[in-house]
Amino acid sequence: MSSHPSTLERPPAFRRIGKSILLTLPILLWSLLMFSRAFFQPRLDLRLASVVVMLFMTALFFLMMRTGTTYRWRRYFFVALGLLFPVGFIADLIAVRGTMSIPIERMVSGDTPFCYMVIPMLVIPAALTRSIIFPGSILPTASNPHSIAIMIGLWLALTLVLGKAWCSYACFFGGIEEGFAAVAKKPKIRRIDPRFRLVPWAILLAIVLLSAALFEPVYCMWLCPFKAVTEYPAVRSVQTAIQMVIFVVLFIGLVIVLPLLTKKRTQCAFFCPFGAFQSLFNKINIFEIRIDREKCIDCAACRNACPTMAISKESVQAGNTLLGCMKCGACVDVCKNHAAVWHVKGTAVGPSSERSRLLFLYGAWAMATMFGGSVLANSVSHLLHFAM
Ligand code: SF4
Ligand code: SF4
Repeated sequence: MSSHPSTLERPPAFRRIGKSILLTLPILLWSLLMFSRAFFQPRLDLRLASVVVMLFMTALFFLMMRTGTTYRWRRYFFVALGLLFPVGFIADLIAVRGTMSIPIERMVSGDTPFCYMVIPMLVIPAALTRSIIFPGSILPTASNPHSIAIMIGLWLALTLVLGKAWCSYACFFGGIEEGFAAVAKKPKIRRIDPRFRLVPWAILLAIVLLSAALFEPVYCMWLCPFKAVTEYPAVRSVQTAIQMVIFVVLFIGLVIVLPLLTKKRTQCAFFCPFGAFQSLFNKINIFEIRIDREKCIDCAACRNACPTMAISKESVQAGNTLLGCMKCGACVDVCKNHAAVWHVKGTAVGPSSERSRLLFLYGAWAMATMFGGSVLANSVSHLLHFAM
């Protein structure tokens, strides 16, 4: 018997594959549900794209189960989402308007697709005046057929359950810089002053107050780097020219150059006010990453791997991550001592780590499939349409 070790090893491997398939089944069923309407569309490109994206999302989840690692597989999806989102978005804009630009007044009055970035700016005007500044109406309108109230409700429910996971599993923009951060083998800039972590909070405070005072979406008008690759204000005055320069400089600096030099998601970590706003929800949801101090040898691998500097020497020593943790799993995957673990609040740290991860990933991947999957399918269908 000892002459056939491979025969002896086979059953556990089969069992592991079988278990991974079983664990993936709920995600396969969820994907089928999410894409079921698209399967019956008359357009062949949309049907094909839906099948491709459904298989892609299900295969990545299977690989997460099979390998026990999270970050690498999540990144394939997230970078694809970031890079393909502008493709579908721009194609739709050109189909509807014939151009990527829009007069700034129409942007402010809400004649644009809903963007979750504006949510923090809605809060004070909505509380004070029972109306919102952007995109104009909380009810469906001719130009915004999807109810904004439903979208905000969905976002809130998911954020309450998953905390800041939105920034790693659903944000259409974060994947662009994660893609650039992945390009370089080693960071050229290694030391970043941790005080930069405070900048998004300062921007959040400023835009919330200024938007309430001016009754305008200040972030969208002046600071959004992603205007450069989605829709931009038509340049018709000195003001709109300045706005365009700001958008392009921020995009090149924070989304391309700095991620290439630091291997970090610099826009998310040091600029995005929506990310800061999402961090607040980490306080009140049950999923987190914890450090088992008995196993930790303070090697700093987790800190180096974290794409947003959401784990510090002090937090490792305290057994925690910082408020800005997006639950991407990089620190857990890189920790050779299994000291960084997934955790559900209220349970013992360590023993139920794999169950905590599974529970979190079901929620996060369902969210990724619902939001990112439909965006990916739209973009892939446009690419197929061009190719066919
Ligand atoms: S990688 Fe693991 S062992 Fe190293 S500092 Fe982080 S938690 Fe501790
Ligand atoms: S602390 Fe860990 S899970 Fe959180 S963002 Fe950093 S690497 Fe990702």
